[in-house]
Amino acid sequence: MQNKSDIEKKFPEGMVPLGNSTFRFACHPKVPCYTRCCRKLDLYIYPYDIIQLKNRLGMNSEDFLNQYVEVVRGSNPYFPTLMLKMTENEERLCPFLSNTGCSVYEERPSACRTYPLERAVDRSTRRGRTEEYYFLTRHDYCLGHQENTAWTVKEWIRDQKLYYYNVMDDLWAEMDTIFAGNPFAGEGAAGPKQILSFMVCYNIDRFRQYVGDHNLLNKFRLDKARRRQIEKDDESLLRFGYDWLKYLLAGMPTLVQKK
Ligand code: SF4
Ligand code: SF4
Repeated sequence: MQNKSDIEKKFPEGMVPLGNSTFRFACHPKVPCYTRCCRKLDLYIYPYDIIQLKNRLGMNSEDFLNQYVEVVRGSNPYFPTLMLKMTENEERLCPFLSNTGCSVYEERPSACRTYPLERAVDRSTRRGRTEEYYFLTRHDYCLGHQENTAWTVKEWIRDQKLYYYNVMDDLWAEMDTIFAGNPFAGEGAAGPKQILSFMVCYNIDRFRQYVGDHNLLNKFRLDKARRRQIEKDDESLLRFGYDWLKYLLAGMPTLVQKK
């Protein structure tokens, strides 16, 4: 079993995971800083965030990308990162901020749910299991830290309904790691494989159309229940899309092609 110092050695000086200890925090309309954090921020959004938000707004994923998303160069040199487009004035407000608070609260992105925690995932453990660590972050303007409600990380995850977001974000992180190995080599930026990858990860409604047009589900052995789920919901389609990209770009045995 790892002792505390082994864990601490994994992270930069001063970053100590919360483990089982508690932190004090509360965010509600009565805090004087209410919605202060919904402006002038760099908000990264991930594939599952897009699905949740565009379904909440009753939009097509392509329209959502055009209206709300900025494509930027992030830490991955071979695949674009997405950020929420803030209003183009001095205030740089989140487009989902209303007079009464977050207008998409139930479907807010994973970064908004996780705050004031940050999550790190270690995939290099000896037993091949992934391990997650949480850290408390503080911003001077955030007065939620002065509130008295105490939380363990587990309680925060449950309260913020983060569990499934973390599952989907981890699947996305695996894809992003594959992209970082440049499986697009030889095609250059915006070549056919990168366009397909962008569509699967970020433009799920366009991918659904592609799956139908190319009869993609019939090309692989999929049990009936999974196939029904893929046809029915966007999360299952995204998971299928990740498997398809892993098969296509990295030759991984994630799908079995029909003969
Ligand atoms: S999505 Fe909601 S919680 Fe997140 S920054 Fe925008 S308004 Fe704030
Ligand atoms: S308490 Fe922190 S998280 Fe809540 S509104 Fe204020 S600044 Fe934002």
